[in-house]
Amino acid sequence: MRDTYLPFAQPDLDEREIEAVTACLREGWITSGPRKLQFETRFAEIMEVPYALAVNSCTAAMHLALEALGVRENDDVITSPYTFAATAEVIRYLGANPVFVDVQPDTLTIDPQKVAAAVTDRTRAIMPVHFGGLAAELSPIYQLAADRNLAVVEDCAHSLPTWYHGTIIGGRPAKWKTFPWAACFSFYATKPLTTGEGGMVCTDDRETFERCRLMSLHGITSDGWARYTHHGSWYYEIREPGYKYNMTDVAAAMGLVQLEKLQEMWSKRAEVARRFGAAFEGHPALQPPLEPETMRSSWHLYPLRLNLNRLDIDRAAFVEQLRARNIGTSVHFIPLHLHPYYRQAYGYSPDAFPVAYREYLREISLPIYSTMTDEDVSDVIEAVIGIADEHLVQAG
Ligand SMILES: *Cc1c(COP(=O)(O)O)cnc(C)c1O
Repeated sequence: MRDTYLPFAQPDLDEREIEAVTACLREGWITSGPRKLQFETRFAEIMEVPYALAVNSCTAAMHLALEALGVRENDDVITSPYTFAATAEVIRYLGANPVFVDVQPDTLTIDPQKVAAAVTDRTRAIMPVHFGGLAAELSPIYQLAADRNLAVVEDCAHSLPTWYHGTIIGGRPAKWKTFPWAACFSFYATKPLTTGEGGMVCTDDRETFERCRLMSLHGITSDGWARYTHHGSWYYEIREPGYKYNMTDVAAAMGLVQLEKLQEMWSKRAEVARRFGAAFEGHPALQPPLEPETMRSSWHLYPLRLNLNRLDIDRAAFVEQLRARNIGTSVHFIPLHLHPYYRQAYGYSPDAFPVAYREYLREISLPIYSTMTDEDVSDVIEAVIGIADEHLVQAG
């Protein structure tokens, strides 16, 4: 057994980030400035998308995107219950209502057929979540959005980088440019690319981008001065009661380095996933996550599922035993409809979304990050197999 605790997640930071942030501090321009703009440009290039706006969280990014795409009070927005608090709370920020539909058991992403069945006259938008780094099944969702003129805001907090039918998540193929759309990323400390806290809105529509940019900084525009005065520098106009969501240059300095390391960090996580998959495949008590042929996962998470009918312990005890062996884990996610707020406000019972509920009860997220050593990976495998073997029972 390992003698030090292996944390569930850890950012991949080295001298390069430290130097970049230090240089920013030494130069003295620390809030939004040239580094933020450079980060946006570079990010947009990688996502093959015309516009990217850097903000201070994915929560902010999704709020801005929904607002820009026209979600208003009493609208319905369809999303997955198998996600983090942020995805649904931003819908509530606008006075709109989240309408959950269940996920697919194999990928834990939103079930497109159930989305189609949930659309009504009140539906304004769909928010697919690329859970764990695996893309939601986007083609039928895009088709539905095109047919019913719905907006799509993708929660890309886990998907950096993720590919769907050969396209990187964060952009969208030109043939689908027929409905309002944005993709929102997170740069929170545990996410595949980090700036401490941060986020990005990507879109291929100039007006959507301009609206997000305006609202991200108090609804203030400074181009008014060009028209009304030659003094310029001091004049601005408040066009809307906006928000305060801009990204700092300190964060962007870190983000620029992290972008350079994106491929390298992804390759290392993919290698961890490959080793886990090879070790767990075929074990009667374990169901490793799959990667459909049409997709490449970012491997932000490694959502292992336990076959509880082949174990004499439950998920909580499995987590406890991993902790006793110095392996940190997490659970993704406690479905939103199980939380008091959503139960009380919308009257959901646990089996309102039976797939989300059942899969949550048997999910464990294993450590998967680029700073893990070969030995760390071996330790996780040994601990998981050890516990699963020890508690294996006959089927029946
Ligand atoms: C982390 C996370 C978010 C929120 O990201 P922040 O940058 O912390 O606002 C949104 N959705 C999902 C699925 C997440 O895991």
